[in-house]
Amino acid sequence: MCSSDLTDNHHAVTQDVFSRLYEKGHIDKRSSEQFYDPEAQRFLPDRYVEGTCPHCGYKEARGDQCDNCGRTLDPTDLIEPRSKLSGATPQLRTTEHFYLRLTDFEGQLEEWLRGRKGWRKHVLNFSLGWIEEGLLDRPITRDIDWGVDIPVEGLGPGKKIYVWFDAVIGYLSAAKEWAAARGTPEAWRDWWENPDAEHYYFIGKDNVPFHVIIWPAMLMGYGGLELPTNVPANQYVTFKGGKASSSRGIGLTISEALALYEPDALRYAVAANLPEQSDTEISEEEIARRINEELVATWGNLVNRVLSMTSKNFDGAVPTPGPLNAQDRALLTTIDEALVTSAEQFERVELRAALRTAMEGAQAVNAYLNACEPWKTAKTDLERTATTLSVAIDAIEGLTVAFSPFMPVTSAAARRMLGAPDIDGWTRRAVEPGTPLGQIAPLFAKVEADPD
Ligand SMILES: [Zn+2]
Repeated sequence: MCSSDLTDNHHAVTQDVFSRLYEKGHIDKRSSEQFYDPEAQRFLPDRYVEGTCPHCGYKEARGDQCDNCGRTLDPTDLIEPRSKLSGATPQLRTTEHFYLRLTDFEGQLEEWLRGRKGWRKHVLNFSLGWIEEGLLDRPITRDIDWGVDIPVEGLGPGKKIYVWFDAVIGYLSAAKEWAAARGTPEAWRDWWENPDAEHYYFIGKDNVPFHVIIWPAMLMGYGGLELPTNVPANQYVTFKGGKASSSRGIGLTISEALALYEPDALRYAVAANLPEQSDTEISEEEIARRINEELVATWGNLVNRVLSMTSKNFDGAVPTPGPLNAQDRALLTTIDEALVTSAEQFERVELRAALRTAMEGAQAVNAYLNACEPWKTAKTDLERTATTLSVAIDAIEGLTVAFSPFMPVTSAAARRMLGAPDIDGWTRRAVEPGTPLGQIAPLFAKVEADPD
């Protein structure tokens, strides 16, 4: 499929959704006053108007939304509006547009939201607060020269469907594209028309109105399509405490961060600080602490220590264990339970907790080794040493499964060192005695706490 086919598909799906909502009376035409830039001689899309937020006083609010307080806005809500194109003060002029009648869905949305179980509190509170304030019908066309064509007559030239209406439709059009590209054009229905399919929307909190109010309203109006299973929106990560740097501004861009940290180590530090329930501050010191004191000290060193000892004492292969004692069995049970617990945490989209569960599993293996002291028994009792290291290897194999969603690259690397096959299911699988170990290398490097 070439890119124009993809664009055509998205336009067609958007027009289909528009037409269906229009036929059902959920879209109607109204005259309104809209900002016009007298210097640029054109009507201004919402984002082209900036000014002061009427809710929080933020001076750089955009005409569609305030990035500071997260509220969606109309350009006319802004105090002291200015055109982004020319800086001129825009003038209100009469224009006609199509409106999505969000008010039609107020009761249905509230009932649906009150029935959601396990959703993040801040997502529900924000959305129900919006409904309690009263939803407003919103214009979904604009005086712009690019975008999806309006599929019904009546507005005259120079108007298109506005991006916030068709952006969320991208989820549906992408599924149709995917189905067509794999030669099964009806397969999208298995996901969108199937009550057993689950839909999770991973977004930042500034996108909650679009995914919890507007898109579900459009889906309800369209009919027959699945509503979101969960919208586990994250709050914001804020950077503070890092050295002020003119080249970096505040915080780090992804490419700057990748120049400083290995991708999996960065994933770990960010996931350990995921702002699931509230804004979370992160600094370069915090990233370094997470990597050095947790990831390297607890998990990286564990893998390296166990495999080096095994290689040295058992000719580079997984040793055959003797009979397991209560301590051995308890460790393996702990790892199996950690996998069950973290699976439940993933189901609830408690990712930070799932990562903590995996890390606690690694701590349990370290405690087990400190109690069994294989480095001492290696001099006196090789069979006992074989059992300890074999149990530790099986535990590590289970932990690579638990860590894999967070750190896919190093989990796969650890499995190659163990001689374990690729992950097959969310479960621990004992590594066969006699399996040759792969080449052993540290999974992670320590980082400088202060890279400047
Ligand atoms: Zn604001």
